[in-house]
Amino acid sequence: MDQIRDFDRHHMWHPYTSMTNPLPVYEVESASGVRLKLADGRKLIDGMSSWWAAIHGYNHPRLNEAAQRQLKKMSHVMFGGLTHEPAVALGKKLLAMTPEPLEKIFLADSGSVAVEVAIKMALQYWQAKGQAQKSRLLTIRGGYHGDTFGAMAVCDPVGGMHNLFSGTLPQHFFTERPSCRYGEEWDPACLTELAETVAAQHKNIAALIMEPVVQGAGGMYFYHPQFLREAQKLCQEYDILLILDEIATGFGRTGKMWGCDHANIAPDIMCLGKALTGGYLTLAATIATSEVAETISSGSPGLFMHGPTFMANPLACSVAGASLDLLAEYDWPTKIAVIAKIMERELAPARENPAVAEVRILGGIGVVEMKREVDVAVIQEKFIQQGVWVRPFGRLVYIMPPYIIDEDDLTTLCRALVAGVADC
Ligand code: PMP
Repeated sequence: MDQIRDFDRHHMWHPYTSMTNPLPVYEVESASGVRLKLADGRKLIDGMSSWWAAIHGYNHPRLNEAAQRQLKKMSHVMFGGLTHEPAVALGKKLLAMTPEPLEKIFLADSGSVAVEVAIKMALQYWQAKGQAQKSRLLTIRGGYHGDTFGAMAVCDPVGGMHNLFSGTLPQHFFTERPSCRYGEEWDPACLTELAETVAAQHKNIAALIMEPVVQGAGGMYFYHPQFLREAQKLCQEYDILLILDEIATGFGRTGKMWGCDHANIAPDIMCLGKALTGGYLTLAATIATSEVAETISSGSPGLFMHGPTFMANPLACSVAGASLDLLAEYDWPTKIAVIAKIMERELAPARENPAVAEVRILGGIGVVEMKREVDVAVIQEKFIQQGVWVRPFGRLVYIMPPYIIDEDDLTTLCRALVAGVADC
């Protein structure tokens, strides 16, 4: 065990860490249901779903079975010139569950790549229409869309990595995130800046890209669905494509299947990832309307110019298909509503903590926003001692547990969270 930690400490990069002075890491030996088992035998209730992904929990017999079944046939073949049943079966399921106008599916290998694909689709779309000057993107501040260069360029310019890579990143248009929160009264004024930017710059704008209703890694911020409806109207009026990044919000996490269901709208291009495979394997999807796909295909060079090696990986597609079947088999909206109710009850005491700025809950997402940044190493250890896995960032201590969590475990998780921030 020490050897593992030692090698890891000296040779393995972890997300957003220093190689010389990394934050501590904990070795996981196995995971099952909602529990992570550490190498030293301690068991932790998982509050993170491995970053929004493991919605059915770990080591699920049905997902294991799908992986094993597919493994015996083939784990991978190239998608250039070949196709296979797991990809087609997954495609059919995705079309049946996503908003109707979305019909053409590109299976990418991670969320960031799905965003790159969406951006490229938007650019090729306008090139095919003879309007290549529509080459810039519009987005709202506070967003997060991934770590690759195209995606980074539409992440929040302050919280993201713009200043590090300013010479390299394409320059896009940013407007304020909607000041109107989810559940509050709609104030049309929060649309003003977006409307003005669209009116002034639409000739240069290929697409508006946003996370619907919940901005995740950019601040765990929940905004009014009316903003989405109004933004879509602007896009239609001014000939701008709408890309919705549902990588975090998709598959029920916000209490509805898609974030855009809160507004009853459908985008021109939708990005999915994370929970698509129930957190088993890396796979993402970018789904476009027929109009977008046909326009791209009608232009020069008549092809969509993307094709990763592991596109439509059969193993990942097979597990994703099984994960979507699982989701279809139970009343997940009620389950998410119950999770929300328990989080409301159990996280409420954190509001009494003077170090806490706000407690907010939407669907299966519970957020305790602190007034100051937390010391991740210290707070993480406190959580572990209480038997829970919660990974804060900045001022945000938040949970989005697997949907299968029961009331006792969720109560323990929430109480540990409240206790963990008690003396922050
Ligand atoms: N978009 C959103 C909304 C995300 O939350 C993330 C991941 N945190 C991504 C894109 C990027 O996905 P990936 O990490 O799989 O590249």
